Amino acid sequence: MLIAETVTFGGAGLDRHAHFRKDPAALDNALRDGAVLAIWRGKPLVAGDRLVWLEAGHPVLAFAGEPVFLGHDDGTQRLAADISAWAPEAGAEAVEAGFFDPSVQRHPALAESAGFVELRSVMTHLSAREAELVATAKALLHWHHSHGFCARCGSRSDMVQGGWMRTCPACAAQHFPRTDPVVIMLVTHGNSVLLGRSPGWPEGMFSLLAGFVEPGETIEAAVRREVLEEAGVLCGPVGYLASQPWPFPASLMIGMRAEALGTDLCIDPEEIEAARWVTREDMVAAFAGQHPEIKPSRPGAIAHFILRNWLADRLD
Ligand SMILES: [Zn+2]
Repeated sequence: MLIAETVTFGGAGLDRHAHFRKDPAALDNALRDGAVLAIWRGKPLVAGDRLVWLEAGHPVLAFAGEPVFLGHDDGTQRLAADISAWAPEAGAEAVEAGFFDPSVQRHPALAESAGFVELRSVMTHLSAREAELVATAKALLHWHHSHGFCARCGSRSDMVQGGWMRTCPACAAQHFPRTDPVVIMLVTHGNSVLLGRSPGWPEGMFSLLAGFVEPGETIEAAVRREVLEEAGVLCGPVGYLASQPWPFPASLMIGMRAEALGTDLCIDPEEIEAARWVTREDMVAAFAGQHPEIKPSRPGAIAHFILRNWLADRLD
């Protein structure tokens, strides 16, 4: 797919400057002179549609854990730090329930226009470079937050190499940031596409089927297994379309296409609530907000990207 990398979080060629990671002096310089993105409980600091970058020593960073090094961005060293230890004023806490947290947390040391927001609310407005930086920062900091102890011996491990590794002082094991591969597939039969919905989604929302790739499985096998498990549909040819880092919290979405060998559906109610075949014409209506039953997946998600390009005949 020629335009694959125009997907949200599709990458902007950030120079990750990996040789800095093993150079303590270069990392120290970056820490002193670089620009830091603060992330509070998974929410980046944003003003309007732009990320807010703080200089070292900014009061907001008083709550920061050890920063991670993101890379070299047109002359600026970019870093990120987790300030989840900061407690906002009472009444400004994050909204934990549901799919989307609409709350904004404002820090007294920042301008009124700046706040910690749910990344989903700004991801389609950021520049490609900002999107790559924040996706990297969010996924990497989440990994440190959830992998503070050695998976081999249980001892507390240490962040090293600018955040791109953890080492265990007790058993010397090395641990590297994880990304979880997920297949998401455009399954078609003639003029129709197979959509499903998960329990708890907003009413009427249908999207492409998706699932985690399992150990010992190829991407193609994962596509065939998930479609058969979730919808009871056998797939013929399977091919690659596009990929998307998806930092909620740390997935790599692998967009695939597959041709169904039949249209009979038999859903697994443990996995999905409903599945249906939707014609191209109905999908056009859904994207225009004019379908009586179907709402499409949200802009920014690779499902939206693939479906929109399928409708526009731009998948090759
Ligand atoms: Zn260990």
